[in-house]
Amino acid sequence: MNILIVGSGGRESAFAYKIAQSPKLTNLYIAPGNAGTEQYGQNVDLKVTDFEGIAAFALANAITLILVGPEEPLVKGIHDFFLGRDDLKHIAVVGPQKLGAQLEGSKDFSKEFMFRHNIPTAAYKSFELSNLEEGLAYLETQKLPIVLKADGLAAGKGVLICETLEDAKAELTAMLAEAKFGQASSVVVIEEFLKGIELSVFVLTDGDSYKVLPSAKDYKRIGEGDTGLNTGGMGSISPVPFADETFLNKVEERIIKPTVDGLKKDNIPYKGFIFIGLMNVDGEPYVIEYNVRMGDPETESVLPRIESDLVDLLEGVAQSNLSSRSYTLSPKTAVTVMLVSGGYPGDYENGKVISNIENVKESIVFHAGTKLVNGEVVTAGGRVIAVTTLQDDLFTALQQATADAGRIFFQGKYFRTDIGFDLI
Ligand code: AMP
Repeated sequence: MNILIVGSGGRESAFAYKIAQSPKLTNLYIAPGNAGTEQYGQNVDLKVTDFEGIAAFALANAITLILVGPEEPLVKGIHDFFLGRDDLKHIAVVGPQKLGAQLEGSKDFSKEFMFRHNIPTAAYKSFELSNLEEGLAYLETQKLPIVLKADGLAAGKGVLICETLEDAKAELTAMLAEAKFGQASSVVVIEEFLKGIELSVFVLTDGDSYKVLPSAKDYKRIGEGDTGLNTGGMGSISPVPFADETFLNKVEERIIKPTVDGLKKDNIPYKGFIFIGLMNVDGEPYVIEYNVRMGDPETESVLPRIESDLVDLLEGVAQSNLSSRSYTLSPKTAVTVMLVSGGYPGDYENGKVISNIENVKESIVFHAGTKLVNGEVVTAGGRVIAVTTLQDDLFTALQQATADAGRIFFQGKYFRTDIGFDLI
């Protein structure tokens, strides 16, 4: 198969690493990729939302399958674009069509979906500018803290947890009346606060059957002990020690099965990954959110634990016979530590030379924000490199990943040394 991965982050590096191992692969391309993806395939200088450009490249290079990494092209309809053209229909796209992508693209859509199919999630009500007064009155009836969510995509910033009624009222007004998150907050979901511990579960589905991928936990804050500003993710672990068999059985019966069945009942075609953000509330799982693609940096710790051929599974998705594909997981623990640019998630400088990657022997180095300039690998983003190691237990994995993160150098490099430490 000739495969094209759309995206450029650590997630896409992990996909490229895993796909490159497949005996079913002929040629691999990554659009646009980064300095690290070149070791697995050929980078193609195309934007992830340049559907015409991607289509022309796919036709010229006899691509049989396109794997879409980030949400933006999915929400903007890349899959529909390929289905809508006779000359492109034969190319399989892994990632939902626009309608299914609404599970991530609209919080209101996903809450309605969950309630329609009895999937456990926080109680909620949605409001728009025309009923702002009702929204403010509703807030007075709710317990604190309370969660306000911009309905649309807001670059991961559209969720506010308000501790006081005054704050909640001011934020609701800012979102609806002052377009705090632009068009994304023209509808706001007001949601009950769930107290518990978060984790993520990933599913690959062909729209009928599914495989449950390894669960993972990510670490969002910039500082040790999960303190400071939110980031795109500073590290992850898989599996999650507190997600035992009993808990994961509840997740499968109460959440995964009703989600895949619900999509079918609602006539929402869905071929791709579902990322289910969960809160474990005293041993009971609740859905916090759906994403319609894999997470980053969770993918970097999830994929190395899949022993089966990922291309075989993707082919199963494309051919609607995923259930017949073999699927085995490694019992080992993966820890991913993200190296970031100094200053991130605030301002940071790009173009710092990265050295000593070759000194890492016991971990996989996944490039994220990197590029090649005059033969040198330099930083080109806030999150620069993900270091993943696979070991027999969490403690050893944490030590190894931290040691290997320390072996790579660039000016201003920062990483957390406590990824997974809270769970040992
Ligand atoms: P989201 O962008 O939907 O993932 O939300 C961002 C973060 O807000 C989540 O990772 C949670 O930490 C938190 N969050 C979202 N919804 C809730 C909720 N209902 N209760 C508690 N925390 C929440």
